[in-house]
Amino acid sequence: MAEFQARKYEFKAEVKKLLDILVHSLYTSREIFLRELISNASDALDKVRFEITKGSEVLDKELSLEIRIDFDDKKNTITVADKGIGMGHDELITNIGTIAKSGSEEFLKQLSENKEAANNIIGRFGVGFYSVFMVAKEVIIKSKSFRKDEPAVWWKSDGSGDYEIAELDVPIKRGTTIEIHLRDDAKEFADKYRLDGIIKRHSNFISFPIYLKGEKINTIAALWREPKSSIKQEQYNEFYKFLTHDTEDPLEVIHTSVDAPIQFNALLFIPKKSYEFWRWNRDDYGLDLYVRRVLIQHQNKDLLPEYLSFVKGVVDSEDLPLNISRETLQENIIFTKIANSVTTNVLSHLLKVAKENPEKYSEFWKEHGRIFKLGYMDFANSDKYLQLLRFNSSACEDEKELISLDDYVSRIKKDQKEIYYALGANREAIDLNPHLEIFKAKGLEVLYLYDPVDEFVVTSLRKYKDFDFKSVDSVDLKSLEKFDDISERQTTVEALSKDDEKHFDSLLDKMKKILGDRVKEVRESKRLKDSPSCLVNADDSISTTMRKILKMSTSELSLPNREVILEINKDHKLIRNLLEIFKKNSEAPFIQDTTEQLYESALLLEGNLDDPHKLVNRLNKMLAEASELYKNRIN
Ligand code: ADP
Ligand code: MG
Repeated sequence: MAEFQARKYEFKAEVKKLLDILVHSLYTSREIFLRELISNASDALDKVRFEITKGSEVLDKELSLEIRIDFDDKKNTITVADKGIGMGHDELITNIGTIAKSGSEEFLKQLSENKEAANNIIGRFGVGFYSVFMVAKEVIIKSKSFRKDEPAVWWKSDGSGDYEIAELDVPIKRGTTIEIHLRDDAKEFADKYRLDGIIKRHSNFISFPIYLKGEKINTIAALWREPKSSIKQEQYNEFYKFLTHDTEDPLEVIHTSVDAPIQFNALLFIPKKSYEFWRWNRDDYGLDLYVRRVLIQHQNKDLLPEYLSFVKGVVDSEDLPLNISRETLQENIIFTKIANSVTTNVLSHLLKVAKENPEKYSEFWKEHGRIFKLGYMDFANSDKYLQLLRFNSSACEDEKELISLDDYVSRIKKDQKEIYYALGANREAIDLNPHLEIFKAKGLEVLYLYDPVDEFVVTSLRKYKDFDFKSVDSVDLKSLEKFDDISERQTTVEALSKDDEKHFDSLLDKMKKILGDRVKEVRESKRLKDSPSCLVNADDSISTTMRKILKMSTSELSLPNREVILEINKDHKLIRNLLEIFKKNSEAPFIQDTTEQLYESALLLEGNLDDPHKLVNRLNKMLAEASELYKNRIN
């Protein structure tokens, strides 16, 4: 290339505009200037490596591919030097003197729409090289192209409107050095601690070594870009701990490299322990998004749906523009495709664990199941989601054992159209639920739900395959008639005589009178074995537990009145005795007390008794009477 004259050039109009904004901005995250320069250096190194591998003739081939950063706190300068591809005279003009990049353009567009917003939006855009003028009063570039005959060039600007280019009079090696003369208000950056922090924060995973005053700063490699086969488990663990500050190793590592149709690498982790517990800040989740090893956004919340927010890690793509703004990410088709793919990957991985290592999957479920369940709205992935759900059930040996919906369905009885579930605080509580007695008698499996969220899940899902979810307290008893009892019911109790049947009906009427509007009906129960009574919803619009949840969140007035039926177990000893008392004296106060007690006990079992005082007083009174009888009997 021919020699050239030193001369001044004007920046293009849009560059001037951009520079003007940057120079006069009071933007607080000015430190991103270094991220931009390092990413340019890294690009330049990538390019020269490409030329070398391609076999092109490259100047100073022996130079090691690295980035060196130095500073002088007396002169208030910082230099960023790379051994990359370098620039010649014309390249400096076209690359640095004009805005060709969409990021800067987009930035200006947004600015023209909202002038005041400059300070807030600079950091979100990769405004590239020019961001250096947020901290520099003067910048000098010295560059030597990888092409043999290209003279070394010198470039200088104060960022105000023009720049100078001249040929360098001293010989330099291939690459680019950027010398920053700091503005008076930016002297703080000529500081080792400060620079070290900035590099670690934004550029830790640049694949070329970055030296600060001769000391290597980026010690952790961008592991996600390495081939899986070359990575040891310890390296994954170390990276995970570095990323999350967790002290334990991860439960699972999900490392994916996808080349087509869109290129991306993802290195994701499932922590052993849920972060939920101490996650005061509900915003503290998301994956780190990189574009070609440069951090674009920390904790991006759109790469994974919220129900997978327990996943930690990074996603890096070649196919996204480095200058992409966070605002436009969500509208970016490539980004959306990456996000979908990452989500499917996580779910597929979980399916694999569930299949190959059920024990590990239970461990996962115990920690993260609570959040995971919230995925019932992810219709696109509902197939996988449903397969991944776990429950405890009446078929389990203990509270810890888990089953999938497929497990349930594989055991489902012939002609069974519903998947039954019961909600309770724990296994013992549900076992004692009178509504379960008929299911036990008929050997019908019931899902045990311990978390109020579970009921939201099953009521939102409505069905699994062809089976509707049905709460045991709103099941239609007729639908159970077709199932035989698995064991003979103990019929030690004699059937009532015709006469007594009539008295029993009158007793039920009496009980209805006592309870008044509180119940819609008092009737004989077909479902009870061991309990004297239970409450049944008259309609199944709102299940008992759902009502309880709604009651906690809304004012009681806004809930429709509950219609309940009190069911009475005719064969229960208490009821038989009550019948005898009733026959002797239909107005006996004991009948009144017992009826109230049965009703309130049923409410109490459901967790729907608002005020226990009356119940306890009545119970004490009845115990006092019982003790009197008992005392006399002993004597
Ligand atoms: P971008 O990096 O998005 O292209 P920049 O404003 O950061 O935008 O840089 C503009 C251009 O200047 C780059 O595309 C590159 O061609 C050139 N450039 C910047 N820094 C260097 C460097 N250190 N070595 C070689 N070329 C560089
Ligand atoms: Mg750049």
